Amino acid sequence: METDFEEINSSSHENSTDILIKEPSIEIRTAGAHKGVGIFAFKDFCEGDVIFEEEPIVAAQFYWNEKYGYLACHHCLRPMESTVENIKRLSNNENIVLSHPNLCPTDKSKHVYCDCGVGFCSTSCKELSWEQYHKCLCTLRNPSLNKLLKSWSGFHYPPETSSIMLLLKMIAIIELSSNYDEAVSTFLKFQHNYVNEDENMLMKFLGSEYAENFRIVHSLLHEVFPCKFVKEFVTEDGLRKLFALIGRNGQGIGTSVYSEWVKKVEKLDLNEEEKSKMDIFINKVYDAMNEHVGTFLNCEGSGLYKMQKNINHSCNPNATVTFPHSNFTLSLIASKNIKAGEEICVSYLDECNLFRSRHSRRVILRNHYLFECHCEKCTEQAGDPDVTSEEESSNEDESISEDEAMES
Ligand SMILES: [Zn+2]
Ligand SMILES: [Zn+2]
Ligand SMILES: [Zn+2]
Repeated sequence: METDFEEINSSSHENSTDILIKEPSIEIRTAGAHKGVGIFAFKDFCEGDVIFEEEPIVAAQFYWNEKYGYLACHHCLRPMESTVENIKRLSNNENIVLSHPNLCPTDKSKHVYCDCGVGFCSTSCKELSWEQYHKCLCTLRNPSLNKLLKSWSGFHYPPETSSIMLLLKMIAIIELSSNYDEAVSTFLKFQHNYVNEDENMLMKFLGSEYAENFRIVHSLLHEVFPCKFVKEFVTEDGLRKLFALIGRNGQGIGTSVYSEWVKKVEKLDLNEEEKSKMDIFINKVYDAMNEHVGTFLNCEGSGLYKMQKNINHSCNPNATVTFPHSNFTLSLIASKNIKAGEEICVSYLDECNLFRSRHSRRVILRNHYLFECHCEKCTEQAGDPDVTSEEESSNEDESISEDEAMES
């Protein structure tokens, strides 16, 4: 993650090359004066190679995503609907008939439930969840938690970038850890400075009445979850820092049982006629879903990742984040050939914003991620006049959709 202004100014290790994590194929170390820490290739990668895979230290489905019927494992976010149920619901069409239903990746015989109602894709997810956080968050044991969730749903609406459940799971993980100090420090290694510019982030989580809603969440956290960490850390200032932490580091996670099924169908050995029939069917379903739910296709949530958090932004990225296993396991894929020694970067901007002018890109990055971009592309274009891209109006900050800019 890029360091924010405060850290740049007080940086004491601008010229050192401290190595933080060393893996066989990558190294995480300080990346120079402007960037703080970064990830570097330790061997050559070809386009399409997996650079690394990791599970999050905490992840949660978005609140409204769950309420809208996207059934997913409470622990790993694997979809729990069958492919047929998924496409019927998303296209609002009961009559769709799916060929090759045997390729549906959902295995309901493995699903298990806690008595409170939350579902898991497997016994191991249920057990891990119980050990790590659900023991504290099961509403059968602590029914007052429903109060907090209800308040949250009263002011937090889609499109979501994070969930109160991510915050609660994080607190519960710390509470249940056998080493409290270590657990706290694991989370506080994520960027968590709250600066004035972060008001946008609070508004995203807590709505336009965020000051009042912030007080509600703060007092409810103390009322319904009076654990050591909440008592010690969750002052008003501490809660602001926790929101900054999940806002700035939360990686979006998207899973879809239908796209998993499509991937499997594409691997079938079909003749030309069957193949073109399948393509037509697949596109027809995507069109029907698009018409009924728009871009709200995936089961979505967010998570905090230990390695991923160190990936810097570049306006000319050489890697992308994907979720190929249809669960929370993140896979970093080389989008270009990468030579040993090169820094590995992704784009925090979506495709559309990535092609805007240097000036526009830097405005979005400064406003939403609080850093000045010094990537190769921005350095090359340093001589470009400070104009906004053509498609932007005179009031550029409003013309750039916040949701576009926040999706990384
Ligand atoms: Zn699971
Ligand atoms: Zn439960
Ligand atoms: Zn740049």
